[in-house]
Formats: sequence, structure tokens, C-alpha cells
Amino acid sequence: MGLPDFYDEGALVGVLTTQPLDRVLDYRAPEGGCHLGAFVEVPLGPRKVLGVVWGTGKGDFDAARVRSVIRVLDVAPMREEMRVFLRRAADYTLTPMQAMLRLATRAPGLSDPPSMRRIYRLGQGRPERMTDARERVLAVLEDHGGLAFTLKELAEMAGVTPSVVKGLVPSGAVQEEDSPRDLPLPHLDPTRPGKALTGDQALAAEALRAGLAKGGYGTTLLKGVTGSGKTEVYLEAVAECLAQGRQALVLLPEIALTAEFLTRVEARFGARPAEWHSGATMTERRRIWRMVGQGAAQLVVGARSALFLPFRELGLIIVDEEHDNSYKQEEGVLYHARDMAVLRAAICGARVVLASATPSLESWANVEAGKYDKLELTARFGVAVLPEMRAIDMRGEKMQAASWVSPSLRDAVRDRLARGEQAMLFLNRRGYAPVTLCRACGQQIGCDHCDARMVEHRLLKQLMCHQCGETKPIPTICPSCGAEDRLAPVGPGVERMAEEAAALFPEARIATLSSDLFGSARALKQAIEEIAAGAADIIIGTQLVAKGHNFPLLTLVGVIDADLGLQGSDLRAAEHTFQLMRQVAGRAGRAERPGVALLQTFQPEHPVIRAILAGDEDGFWRAEAQARQAAGVPPYGRMAGIILSGTQMQQVFDIANTLARNDGALRGIGAQVFGPAPAPIARVRGRHRVRLLVKADKGAPLQEALARWIAPLRLKGDLRLAVDIDPQSFL
Ligand code: ADP
Ligand code: ZN
Repeated sequence: MGLPDFYDEGALVGVLTTQPLDRVLDYRAPEGGCHLGAFVEVPLGPRKVLGVVWGTGKGDFDAARVRSVIRVLDVAPMREEMRVFLRRAADYTLTPMQAMLRLATRAPGLSDPPSMRRIYRLGQGRPERMTDARERVLAVLEDHGGLAFTLKELAEMAGVTPSVVKGLVPSGAVQEEDSPRDLPLPHLDPTRPGKALTGDQALAAEALRAGLAKGGYGTTLLKGVTGSGKTEVYLEAVAECLAQGRQALVLLPEIALTAEFLTRVEARFGARPAEWHSGATMTERRRIWRMVGQGAAQLVVGARSALFLPFRELGLIIVDEEHDNSYKQEEGVLYHARDMAVLRAAICGARVVLASATPSLESWANVEAGKYDKLELTARFGVAVLPEMRAIDMRGEKMQAASWVSPSLRDAVRDRLARGEQAMLFLNRRGYAPVTLCRACGQQIGCDHCDARMVEHRLLKQLMCHQCGETKPIPTICPSCGAEDRLAPVGPGVERMAEEAAALFPEARIATLSSDLFGSARALKQAIEEIAAGAADIIIGTQLVAKGHNFPLLTLVGVIDADLGLQGSDLRAAEHTFQLMRQVAGRAGRAERPGVALLQTFQPEHPVIRAILAGDEDGFWRAEAQARQAAGVPPYGRMAGIILSGTQMQQVFDIANTLARNDGALRGIGAQVFGPAPAPIARVRGRHRVRLLVKADKGAPLQEALARWIAPLRLKGDLRLAVDIDPQSFL
């Protein structure tokens, strides 16, 4: 880039801050100078803000008024490849740079000096008076060699009160000292042997290792049914990467997944990796962020935002369950972690492994186009078969009112219970009932702020809007007509399924797994572990259970409503139904017992349901690819969603119409604009939402045209515009 690597004191530098000013500001380098990329604190008005030295100052500001950088933070400067990555990601997603920088500095207290904590270790002295309690403290310290502990840890281990430990300090028997809180991470040993791999596992691992050994960028799709050993295989690639002294990143879609995963990593490499997710404490996040920057974190396991950590030598990114929707960030910076992983790897010369039993059509198409390599694991480890899948044709089942488990499914569950095995009832709907209806006036209770119905959550004793999170108590009087005790739940959610299951199977222990029923990720992890160990007979779950958990005793999955996902207007409805049903079915029969999946459906002849039952994956993908190609939609065409929102509906529509009329920049590249139309969810948190959809050919320079198109727009008042490149959700 032709920039100097270092700026002497007083030199003019351009600093990108995290503040909402889409512009690099001029400052003077501080005493001692600063590196290009240095993280700095700069004055902005009356405040001190975080920034990064982005280059040489422009000098277009009154020289006398240029202020100095306050100080350089004690963290590794941002590397050039990271700056390039942020720039390109910003260009791709049409995001202001300061928002990208915020993503890259999501570690609270970055500018604080490293905090200290008080620790206690064995000293040379002897106490004048020895007691049993004192004896125990010294024994614990002796047993643990030179290790030091916090007061609380040590007191707990010795079974004494903290004052006993403190009482040992004056004589020098115990030494008290302050040490930095950011303790180094434990070392992962890549030379420890992994499991003995089967034939195609070994071939796949070898191919991934060879890719790493060769160096440079490359992306591989690792496809294999659940349980085929994808994780075992990519851990071999991680081992190779660590052996090269480079860092590896494993992205997982959901924090609930990490419990089991971390234990596996520990078993493989002898220590736990660094964890990066929203549930981590502030101190922990800061510690990991710094360690990653120093190259001291060898392996990071995390949620999508881990992609923006300041890796020093990133060699490998694994995107596990790459088809998962949660990789798309739907708020703030709208990015897709899978695509950004590929971008980041391409810039820093790392390898990417996309693992999935049911890859996205995007990745499937990239393999077909020769952009990605593909490795396939065919057999399930241990069990050689996928669970048998059958439809229950609901048109032929005798259903009681307000019940959703058909007689056929009920009998199948009874069967498992009698054999001491687990059964799962899957329904992708949280809460008790999706609709609350007044039998007197026919009104459904809606959210006051959104265009959505309130969902009854009986366990939490409230109605909740799944759009905005608004809650209210469950009323006894209809808010529209005032009739008393005429409100009735309509349709099932998991809580209602649990009620039905309890009535059908009174002897069974029933566990409901739904994200809203657990106070914390940790509580959820623990529940999953207990259930996997056999603490329940029937598991009732939402989408949460479809993702990667091992339930060895589970041999039957009953899908309550296989048609649920087929109804949406979403272009990926068929794809998502296909993936979800296969993932859910993959939960059954993981150990030596074969499993069966039963799908309750009213449309057994629907092409998607037929492809699922027949296990005809390639057939499904081909048909789906053809349909999308014919329609010119992703991945065979490009799309962008424009969402305008504001409190005044007319204003929102006016500005959307103005945009739609002045579409010259888009027509210039042959793109088309559809809309404006009210978004399917037309009001969220009191804001009206209007969508425009832009479609373009695959090769068209869409972002450039979009940028030119929206540039003249002046958003007044509370109007907001969001651009969603490659939209996943059309709400
Ligand atoms: P996937 O990631 O494809 O779902 P996993 O790697 O989790 O598959 O493997 C499923 C289960 O089988 C895990 O418990 C794993 O430890 C075990 N497993 C897979 N391959 C082997 C192997 N070669 N030797 C021993 N156990 C294996
Ligand atoms: Zn709402």
C-alpha cells in the first residue's frame, strides 16, 4: 500500500474511530511515535475514543487544530490483512467502516491496563501454631506443586474459611502476590494421536492435511451424514495447522453446541481451546482478544463474530454446520459468516473447511463450479445406516380435537418406552400456542408494536411477541370485545406438546428443550448433557435439538408437522425444510441401535417430502438448482434487500417510491427493482417497514451500483435504511 510502517512523534496520522463518522480523522502521532495499525485512544470533542491508525493523515484540516493521539494501547497493532479484510467486508456488505471496526474491537476494556488479581502460593515459612485447618491449606498447596490459587479457590479446596488462608500469610507459610488476570491459555498439543480413522475418514483427513501443508488459500466442502466423523476429520486438519505453529478457528452455529465440542477438543489435544461467544464474561473476552492478537491462542472455538478477532497467523477456519441460518447476522452489520470466512481466508492465505450433512445450495453450486473442493464421508461411524424415514399420512389418521400426536406416532413412542429407549417429538415452535383467539369476537391477540400475533408462553405465564420480545400477562378478558373467559389457544407449541405427551404417556419422564426455557447457555448445555445421559424418556424440542447434539439412547424421532416449513414465501423454504428434516432425523440411532424418523404430513406427495423420504439428496439438489437457475435467483443470480423503516408510514413509502423511481444506477447494470411493498412483517417495535428487492445477474457489479443508487438519499427524522446483500430472510 506504500504506507510507512511507523510514524514518528508529531507526524500526521489518519485514525479510524469506532464513532459514527464515516471518515478517517487527522491526529498527530504521540510521544514515542506509533505503528501503522496501532490501537490508540484519541480525543474527540470532550471524549476519549478508541481508534486505529489507518494511514497517513490527509492534512486537509487546520493544522493548528489537529490534536495529538492520547496514547497507544498495549495490544498488538492491527495487521494489514485485517485492515484489508475489514475494508473488503465493508464494501461487500455496504457497511460504514466504523461499524466494521466496532465488530473487530468487541472486547470491553481493551484500553484498560491489564487488571491484577490476588493469588496465594506456598511460601518458605512455618506458622507458629499449627491447626488442622492450616494443615489442610498447606497440604493442598504442596499437592499442587508450585501452583497458585485465588483466595476463594484455595479456601474451597482446603475446606476452610478464607480467614484461615489469610492467617497463614504473616508467618510466610503462604505467600500473597498480585498477578495479571490475563493468564496465558493452556497449551494444546497437536502431536497427541487422534482416533484411528476409517478408510474414507483417513482419506479426507489426508487431503485436508495436504492442503494445509501446501499452504495458501483453498476451500473444501466436507460433506457427510451426521455421525460420519466430520468432526474427527477436521480435528486432524486443526492438528496439522497447530503443528505448523499457526492458529485455527472453529465456528459453530450455536453456543449450546460447544459443551460437547470443547470436551472433545480437550480429549484430542489435552487442553481446552479459547471460547468466544456472547455468553463469555467481559474479562474473558478481553483476555481471549489479546491472546489471539499475540498468537498465544492456538485454537478459538466461537460464534460467527470470532471471525473478527485479530489473529496473528490464521491458518485454518472450520465452519461447522455451514448451512446453518444463524451464520447470517440479521441485525447491525448484515453479514454471512460463511462467506466472510472465505473472504478472510483468501486474504490471509488460510484454508477453509465447510462441514455439513446438508450443505447450502450456495456451497453445493460452488463445488459444481469448481471453486471449492469436495470431500465426502459416506458411511456413518459404527452404524452403517441412516435412520429409516417414513411418512405418517395425516389424512388417514383419526385425530382428537386439539391433539397433534397421531395414533401411529403414539404407538411408535410407546414401543420405544417399553424398550427403555428415548423418543423425540420435534416441533419448531416455541411457547404453548402460536395464536390466542377470542371465541366471542374472532379476534386474535396481536402485538401492540408489531404486525405479529402474540404467542402464549404458559410456563412463563405471559404472551410474547417473537418479533420484538414484548410481553404481557395472559388476559382473561378479550381486549377487543371484553368477553370474559372466551380466549382459547389455537395450534401447538412445544409446551403444549409436552402437555399432550404427559397425558398420552403418564409414566414417561418428559424434557422440553426450547431456547426460552433456559436462563443461560450454561443451563441449557447442562440439560442437554443430562438428557443425553438418559435423564428423560421423551424429548420435546424445537430447532435447537436439530443441531449436532449426541443422544445415544434416542431411536425414534417424530416430526409433528413436517409441512411447517413448506408454506413460507421464502426462496429457500424447500432447502431449509429438506435440511432441517434430515438433521432432525440424524438425531436418531447414533449408537449401536438403529433409529427411525416418522414425519407427520398432509402432503406426502410433495416433492420435498418425497426427496427427504427417499434420501435422494442429489435428486433434490438438482431439482432445486434448476428451479433457482430458471428464476435467476441465488446462487445463480444476485439479490439485495433494501429495508426502509420509520414511525410515519407515509414517509417510509414516499422515500421508498423515490428510490424505486430513480433507479438509473441499477438499470445501468441491468438490475431490476421490485417493490416497494410492505415487508411481510410490516411493523416491528412501532416502526413501519417497507422492502425493495433488487435482482441482478451473477456477474453484475451490484454493490457499486447500489452505493451510487442510495448515495443521493437524505434520510430525515427517524427514517432508516438497511441494505441486506444476499438476503437469507425476507421478513
Ligand atoms: P459428525 O461430525 O459427522 O457428526 P463425529 O465426528 O461427531 O461425526 O462422529 C460421530 C461419533 O463417532 C463421535 O462420537 C465420534 O467420536 C465417533 N467416531 C467417528 N469416527 C471415529 C473413529 N474413526 N474412531 C472412533 N470413534 C469415531
Ligand atoms: Zn412485537
